[in-house]
Amino acid sequence: MKPLGPIPAGFETIDGQLAIGGRTVSALVKEAGDTPLFVYSRDRIAQRLAELRAVMPERLDIHYAMKANPFGPLLEYMADLVDGLDIASGGELVMAREAGFLPREISFAGPGKRDEELLAAIRAGVTLNCESAGEVRRALDIGKTLGLAPRMAIRVNPEFELRGSGMKMGGGAKPFGVDQSQVADLARELIDAGAEWRGLHIYTGSQALDADAIIETQGNVLDAAAAISVEVGEKLPKLNMGGGFGIPYFDKDQPLDIAAVGAALSKRFENLPETLQETQFAIELGRYLVGEAGVYLCRIVDRKVSHGVTYLVTDGGLHHQLAASGNFGTVVRRNYPVAIANRLTEEPAEEVNVVGCLCTPLDRLADQALLPHAEVGDLVAVFCAGAYGASASPASFLGQGPALEILV
Ligand SMILES: *Cc1c(COP(=O)(O)O)cnc(C)c1O
Repeated sequence: MKPLGPIPAGFETIDGQLAIGGRTVSALVKEAGDTPLFVYSRDRIAQRLAELRAVMPERLDIHYAMKANPFGPLLEYMADLVDGLDIASGGELVMAREAGFLPREISFAGPGKRDEELLAAIRAGVTLNCESAGEVRRALDIGKTLGLAPRMAIRVNPEFELRGSGMKMGGGAKPFGVDQSQVADLARELIDAGAEWRGLHIYTGSQALDADAIIETQGNVLDAAAAISVEVGEKLPKLNMGGGFGIPYFDKDQPLDIAAVGAALSKRFENLPETLQETQFAIELGRYLVGEAGVYLCRIVDRKVSHGVTYLVTDGGLHHQLAASGNFGTVVRRNYPVAIANRLTEEPAEEVNVVGCLCTPLDRLADQALLPHAEVGDLVAVFCAGAYGASASPASFLGQGPALEILV
């Protein structure tokens, strides 16, 4: 038997079924019309943001990193809740504008921005988080052609990284950002060329559950930003401090202590160096805001036994939930939180493998999981499905097509 990840707090049970937004999973599937289905909860997202704001310093803006979940209705909902949006492509820019975000709330990071993407962003007045000297120069040229001063920040490839981070994005050679030692000269260059200087973006990693690691990194980020801006010779207008706040996906994962992070940051904000005293600070979060608010529902279409092992075969799979299958940046596959959603209150009764419908042994949703006895027609819930699910999985694989999505 292998343990399942922890089911996030805050979900209800009605008539023995998992319920989201006051409706049972059966009712939600009926309403949406079919499985597989992603259900995202407004209440869970709002609650998450409220808890975060309660412990973070007031002057800290909270940005949403939309690559975690770009579902239109969810994005529209986020537009009212967060202070800014971080995008990473021209396609995301279009979606962000459609969802109601204002250009001045949007910053655009990501390596390999094409000229058309730079042009669209500069024309709209979005802040570019520039990833290289070449990109800065292309953006300046495009700004000149348009007769507009581009709003530009520089993404720093820092000399340090976020300890225990799931995916390392800083420290050493990286395709992201400008090496810390070269940032000040490049900033001077773009300021002298007449661009609007929007400060620094320092992103050090993601999926950290250790508050001490985040506190240490945020300290390093503030120190680096202060040193760079002294070198630039201007007060720093804005600092995007990155994020990296993780959520518990697996057995024994403990939730991040955000109160500790908030307290440490508040303390740092009380003693800022001169160059950072008027800086507008932000953190950018993806999965922390939306990951636990989403549930992926699929239906059992077959139940079979092979060499004594019971398989529950569902109509879902890695084409919608690549991360839960263990194929999205994980070394050792571990089980996400999974439940038989319409038998939520029944006792675990048997060890089963829950698999998807794809013709590949990679398509696993839960291995050797102890679950209540389930039959064909029952619904399987995979939790922590609100981030890097639908949009980060190969939906066209094997001609399956996308899952349905609803926000409730
Ligand atoms: C992916 C990404 C994020 C969001 O990461 P999460 O782990 O979902 O919070 C934030 N900022 C940048 C620059 C990213 O690339």
